[in-house]
Amino acid sequence: MGENQRSIDLEIAQRETFDATIIGGGINGASLYHHLCQKGYRVLLVDKGDFAGGTSQASAMMVWGGLLYLRNLDILTVAQLSRDREAMIRNLEGEVSPARFRYIPSRETGLNKYLMASGMYFYWMLGLCQRERPRVEESYAEKAFLKNGEHDPSFLYQEAVLHHSDSRFVLRWITGQDSRQGIALNYCALTGGEYHAGDGLWRLTLTDQVTGWARLARSRCVINCAGVWTDTVNRQFKIETPFKHVFSKGVFVGLERQDRHNYPLIFDMGEQDDVLAYIPWGPVALWGPTETCLPSIEGGVRTEPEDVDFLLERANRNLKKQVDPADVVSLRCGVRPLVVKKNFSQECYPLNLSRKHQIHRDRLKPWISVYGGKFTSCVSVAEKVEKQVRGLMAPGQRRLPVPASTPAEMEWDTYPGLQEKVPSLKGCIEGERCLNLEDYLRRRTNISQWVPREGLGKNNENVPHLEQLALQFSGGEPVIARKLVLDYIEAVERRFDGVLAQVYS
Ligand SMILES: Cc1cc2nc3c(=O)[nH]c(=O)nc-3n(C[C@H](O)[C@H](O)[C@H](O)COP(=O)(O)OP(=O)(O)OC[C@H]3O[C@@H](n4cnc5c(N)ncnc54)[C@H](O)[C@@H]3O)c2cc1C
Repeated sequence: MGENQRSIDLEIAQRETFDATIIGGGINGASLYHHLCQKGYRVLLVDKGDFAGGTSQASAMMVWGGLLYLRNLDILTVAQLSRDREAMIRNLEGEVSPARFRYIPSRETGLNKYLMASGMYFYWMLGLCQRERPRVEESYAEKAFLKNGEHDPSFLYQEAVLHHSDSRFVLRWITGQDSRQGIALNYCALTGGEYHAGDGLWRLTLTDQVTGWARLARSRCVINCAGVWTDTVNRQFKIETPFKHVFSKGVFVGLERQDRHNYPLIFDMGEQDDVLAYIPWGPVALWGPTETCLPSIEGGVRTEPEDVDFLLERANRNLKKQVDPADVVSLRCGVRPLVVKKNFSQECYPLNLSRKHQIHRDRLKPWISVYGGKFTSCVSVAEKVEKQVRGLMAPGQRRLPVPASTPAEMEWDTYPGLQEKVPSLKGCIEGERCLNLEDYLRRRTNISQWVPREGLGKNNENVPHLEQLALQFSGGEPVIARKLVLDYIEAVERRFDGVLAQVYS
């Protein structure tokens, strides 16, 4: 049924004229898709890979006001992000929940306690005092696994977190949508196209990454939400903007979660004013992220041994239980798209760059570019883009010629080595555009982040289970299913085993 629906959607994408085509199914594109469909626009969303397959699968899953940006005195951004956080807590119950965080100043190099306390209060007030009042806690459960004497009392304060995962949060905006208003296609890349001023329509070439077939779609406007690829797509279509992205790579390692690890811990590292977070998430805790400026993303981005080396070394400075590469359950790597003015050329530590977003509408062609943008700001970005779209056209009343489909109730399943239930593969294939093993293990579920070696198990003990799952992608053909699993093992050996084998720690 999943495959059939995709073929139907590809046909419709070719036949219909859309009000807006969104390029990119990360958090910016997904929440905008939902917003425009709700407002009555006919929308096409395409992603060259899986939904949330870019940066949006690699975040810290925090919906936060941006405490750290206070150090750069970026007060307006913090006030705006705090407002966005509050709106998400209010309007997305069950998806975004308030959560306590613990800030742990470094005794040696951190800010002094009184300065820190004033900063925390100021931050709380910028959030209009909607969260719990911050307080100092001398003794707390997590102290049991911190290295003795390294840390002073903690500051307990409140932010919010995504409930299940960042990828599922992205997916909810897409699959929860009335299919008569919009069509969303993963593994469908925008590869070319041009604007015809005569009829005011874009003709866009979309290439189905599964079959390799190219199709033409017509759209009144295009919204570029391609994250770190925004400038590449703009260049391809000769769109000029006053902005560009700079790239900051962020890596987390997943470590086994320790007993009594209740709240995310934010460690002040005292170096370049940076912090590292230790975030409990199911059976693991994420430790990171790194913050590394990248000159380019051409050729792809991956976790490097030195990223892991850095993180393990810092973990061993702060945690009692010493860790080495064999303790790493999972790796998580993404690139932040940070917006700067086009003429920006300064060498800069990425944390010092503002986390603002910018929306730019081309003067000559109906093309809107989204720069920056975080989970926390996804709704306000969507609202601002919608305003721009309204400036181009009013929503029509026409709907797509497909019956409304209501999202099916989620079915749950088990996975070896996991106590937590996971969404069933059948449900993900039928209702959530899951097209391969990796979609399922990494983004429809958290298996590849929670079970060692991306779900294979330390000694490949889960391979028979994966072969059973793969039958659902192979039409029940065992030889093809085995080949799919072998390809998956090869990818894990390259990007996980291969990286950890080179780590020094
Ligand atoms: C380590 C780390 C931690 C973070 N933590 C947080 C946090 O706690 N809270 C928070 O709010 N933010 C956080 N962020 C920031 C946040 O994750 C990103 O800003 C956000 O995910 C960017 O979303 P996006 O939709 O712009 O880009 P992406 O998620 O990268 O989506 C862009 C999509 O465009 C698609 N695309 C590109 N070119 C084409 C094309 N030609 N045709 C079709 N599709 C195309 C790509 O395949 C991709 O899926 C974090 C980021 C990192 C790296």
